[in-house]
Amino acid sequence: MKTNITDMFGIERPIVQGGLMWVARAELVSAVSNAGGIGFMTALTHPDAETLRAEIRKCREMTDKPFGVNLTFLPTLRPPDYPAYINVCIEEGIRFIETAGRNPEPYMEQLKAAGIKVIHKCTSVRHSVKAEKVGCDAVSIDGFEAAGHPGEDDVTSLILVPLARDAISIPIVASGGFADGRGLVASLALGADAMNMGTRFVATREAPVHENVKKALVASDERSTRLIMRTLRNTERVLQNEAVDKVLEIESKGDAKIEDLVPYVSGLVGKEMLQEGQMDKGVLSAGQCMGLIRDIPTCKELLDRIMEDAAAILTERHAQLT
Ligand code: NAD
Repeated sequence: MKTNITDMFGIERPIVQGGLMWVARAELVSAVSNAGGIGFMTALTHPDAETLRAEIRKCREMTDKPFGVNLTFLPTLRPPDYPAYINVCIEEGIRFIETAGRNPEPYMEQLKAAGIKVIHKCTSVRHSVKAEKVGCDAVSIDGFEAAGHPGEDDVTSLILVPLARDAISIPIVASGGFADGRGLVASLALGADAMNMGTRFVATREAPVHENVKKALVASDERSTRLIMRTLRNTERVLQNEAVDKVLEIESKGDAKIEDLVPYVSGLVGKEMLQEGQMDKGVLSAGQCMGLIRDIPTCKELLDRIMEDAAAILTERHAQLT
């Protein structure tokens, strides 16, 4: 299938696997790219730029297809050396960077000079307008259904994507709530040029996480997410568990500080949970699309199924129209 996004990335299928903290490593990223979509590895998963360099090289060994790097500028407990990560991407010939969490303007001149295409993750129409204005090549619009940090406006994909389509002319990837062929058709109907999936890709054979994590996503439903850190205006949508209940209890008392939540929300605790499979240990970003996740396929099986289902829907609906 050809869209403005498949053209931009040089891929066969309009399916994007955006950054997933701790999960979007070479194994998953290369599997998505080999299946005809595009994977983005998450820079901050790596403690420093040199480790990211090694991961980029590892991924190149695993695929000759295009892939990119995600760079998230949200608040962190361990401030990253962003310029060093960017320099490594440039030195390693990365052609696509997905930015998120804050306006990427300070880095745009450097990225553009290196010929890198920038796709910026936005959670509002106004941020997508700004992204186009500062020279981003595409945006990925995160609706409120999304895992992780969906912003503070609480507007769903069904509204955000068509409004963004009306407001900007650069390509759009629809993100948040998408997990199957129906989602792909919907994303295109809403005016997007591709769909992004995050949580769906965690429940794949190649995702480098403990089997318990994948099984938990299959077992959970659309009501199994909670919103934490709302009181800090850094909302994160996560899978409900004991650690999350504790965070919500602390926040409900009022005046919570990030320091009070660190034992539960720290990414390092979340990383251990993903590796060891102790599902109540920390927080796991997860989207409402969990209700649509019923198996643990390979990325190729997943993308084949999505494309087949999408084609069947479009054919059937077209026949009904004429
Ligand atoms: P971390 O261990 O540095 O922080 C844990 C959580 O606390 C994160 O959600 C972070 O945003 C939040 N946090 C840290 N300092 C804060 C502050 N001063 N005020 C408010 N909130 C604060 O995070 P990590 O797990 O190592 O992840 C690294 C980065 O990737 C973070 O910025 C995180 O937000 C981001 N991330 C993004 C997504 C997404 O949906 N885009 C998902 C997971 C992680």
